Amino acid sequence: MLKLKCKDVGFKCGFVAKGKTEDEIMQKAAEHAMKDHGMKPEDITPEMKEKIRSLIHKSWF
Ligand SMILES: [Zn+2]
Repeated sequence: MLKLKCKDVGFKCGFVAKGKTEDEIMQKAAEHAMKDHGMKPEDITPEMKEKIRSLIHKSWF
């Protein structure tokens, strides 16, 4: 199981994206950012994706 905490990205937010693959997490994180943080697809730059990808970590829970 992989996890990404929204607050690690820099938002004051308790959302945690969970998934089996990085791509699944990226998909969920993008959906969450657009839905709950009012971001547009063009706001999610390649640099931001790289940053988010680097924040994904393994979790056994
Ligand atoms: Zn969030």
